[in-house]
Amino acid sequence: MSELALFGGPKAVTKDPADIFTWPIITDEDEQAVLDVLRRGGMSGSDVTMQFEKEYAEWQGSKYALGMCNGTAALHSAMFGCKVGVGDEIICPSVTYWASALPAFSLGATVVFCESDPVSLCIDPNDIEHRITERTKAIVVVHYLGHPCDMDPIMEIARKHNIKVIEDVSHAQGALYKGRLVGAIGDVGAMSCMSGKSLAIGEAGILVTNDQEIYERAAVFGLYERFNDSIETPDLRPFKGLPMGGYKYRMHQLSSAVGRVQLKYYDERVEEIQKGMNYFWDLLEGVPGVKSHRPANDSNSTMGGWYAAHGRYAPEELDGLSVTRFCQAVSAEACGISPGCNSALHLHPLLNHADIYGHGKPTRIANSNRDVRQPEGSLPVSEGIGKLVYSIPWFKHCRPDVIEEYANAFKKVSANYLELLAEDQGNPPRLGGWHFFQHTWPATK
Ligand SMILES: *Cc1c(COP(=O)(O)O)cnc(C)c1O
Repeated sequence: MSELALFGGPKAVTKDPADIFTWPIITDEDEQAVLDVLRRGGMSGSDVTMQFEKEYAEWQGSKYALGMCNGTAALHSAMFGCKVGVGDEIICPSVTYWASALPAFSLGATVVFCESDPVSLCIDPNDIEHRITERTKAIVVVHYLGHPCDMDPIMEIARKHNIKVIEDVSHAQGALYKGRLVGAIGDVGAMSCMSGKSLAIGEAGILVTNDQEIYERAAVFGLYERFNDSIETPDLRPFKGLPMGGYKYRMHQLSSAVGRVQLKYYDERVEEIQKGMNYFWDLLEGVPGVKSHRPANDSNSTMGGWYAAHGRYAPEELDGLSVTRFCQAVSAEACGISPGCNSALHLHPLLNHADIYGHGKPTRIANSNRDVRQPEGSLPVSEGIGKLVYSIPWFKHCRPDVIEEYANAFKKVSANYLELLAEDQGNPPRLGGWHFFQHTWPATK
């Protein structure tokens, strides 16, 4: 009989995971903070949010922080902050959640996608510069699946061409790049704090920057109450009192209240996640087919909270076994995982054909001086990345006996891969999805 659970063998994972995957960690302190705001009817104010902003800026080490209703709003405001406007271009990796790119459309701008690096899964710094034109206003970088982007070369390119860098930190609050917290390395950081993310506080977003003009532009775009005499930027001042973008992006104070409590414990909880996740990958070091997704040990860079942790797949080490078949076998061991990650955005019809605002031509090129659309085959790494990644358990606690069982599921499948080749039907044409990841774990059992 086969050892593999897929063929009737004993499952590798037998222990009760208890709360090892539970996130966010909610205690009486969170509940009390919410009840306080709720009972005094403070849901729609800004006092708790402004306290949260102050504490967040301190934690981030940035001059300014702004709370917003979600990460999409924070990214939209960050783009406006960087003066992305009609006819402009932003450069953004194709493999990311849509909110890194799509808000550009409502500013009259468009997006030029670039490749991701197959090891970090983040923007490939070598695929940026040749895409810069006189219309490029900003590069949006995403610390994808918790992995910090290689910021030094990116900042060098941006400075050379006088364009802004927007960091999308939605996956990576607390990650270090060469010892520096991600978020305030670029000109502005914008991020989601919805309850599936690493800093999970409800539906919420945060924007951080050290640049006064970016801060003020981001504030007046969708936060009408902030558009008062405190705003110093001369070309904004005449319009005080109304939100410049016509949006309302205020953060819900029940989220701000949770945010203050979550932030207080965030560093120690992230440290525990780091320990657990690194222990998992250390156990799998050298196992054929299976590669970690984390910065090198000696890089002084870290994965922060390991949002939606993934692993890399090396099919050539398993005679070409598909990642789909691999995931089936690992899942049968009671370790539910799935292949793929975000699908490459440049292939979606919205980025190619949709006339959203009635320009009489696709929005992607509505204000462009050339056709920036990128057909299938134009970004081969991004298009193929789904076949080379899979989700892994996202441990919130370092409990070696439990983690060892999950690692054993991967080891067992790798060791017995020959049995899986016979019935391998390969991967579907496209792996992954347009939405974010399933936010509860374990996935399928
Ligand atoms: C979740 C996410 C966002 C959007 O955040 P919301 O709070 O859901 O609006 C933006 N960028 C990335 C990379 C994300 O994963």
